[in-house]
Amino acid sequence: MAQWQGDSDDDIDYMFKVVLIGDSGVGKSQLLNRFVRNEFHMKSKATIGVEFLTKTVLMDHKHVKAQIWDTAGQERYQAITTAYYRGATGALLTYDVTKRHSFNHVEKWLDELHMHADKNIVVMLVGNKSDLNSIREVPTEEAKDFAKQKGLFFIETSALDSNNVEPAFLGLLSQIYMAVSKKHI
Ligand code: GDP
Repeated sequence: MAQWQGDSDDDIDYMFKVVLIGDSGVGKSQLLNRFVRNEFHMKSKATIGVEFLTKTVLMDHKHVKAQIWDTAGQERYQAITTAYYRGATGALLTYDVTKRHSFNHVEKWLDELHMHADKNIVVMLVGNKSDLNSIREVPTEEAKDFAKQKGLFFIETSALDSNNVEPAFLGLLSQIYMAVSKKHI
């Protein structure tokens, strides 16, 4: 799978909408910033402030354009609208490995997906801020077991030091691609 620099929609074979969900402060915006722009900001919010960013990748000789939606802080007011989930084929559900409560809320986010998203949506559970290992509150094994039990893909990332950010997004996109090409979604 390679990055592709073209941006004319005429050349796009597939367009996948992906939504970022998870508690406020877990690093959703910075994961997106790192993946699309290869940037990171310690003080984020205002620096992104977009509804979505796009990135096109080559998969199986096909041009796959990912349209990745950021909540832009809506989750703080429990006001994520149904429109946010409409048409989404994938979700990156992020928690912060140093905040146990953000992991405990993952079930709540899965319920939200259940209510608003397509039932075949592909979900990647992402434990972010792996660079802060010394103050970790959620062991990797526990999250891995949880993901297995719920049928989710799982990865730990650091938007700060770039660890596993590409594999998280590209892994999700390739799972969507496989599901779509087998006509599951
Ligand atoms: P969001 O509310 O989920 O979109 O979270 P943000 O992307 O705004 O990040 C919240 C805070 O966590 C910001 O101060 C970021 O700089 C910081 N942050 C995000 N990702 C990481 C990471 O991987 N490691 C560390 N140490 N801090 C991070």
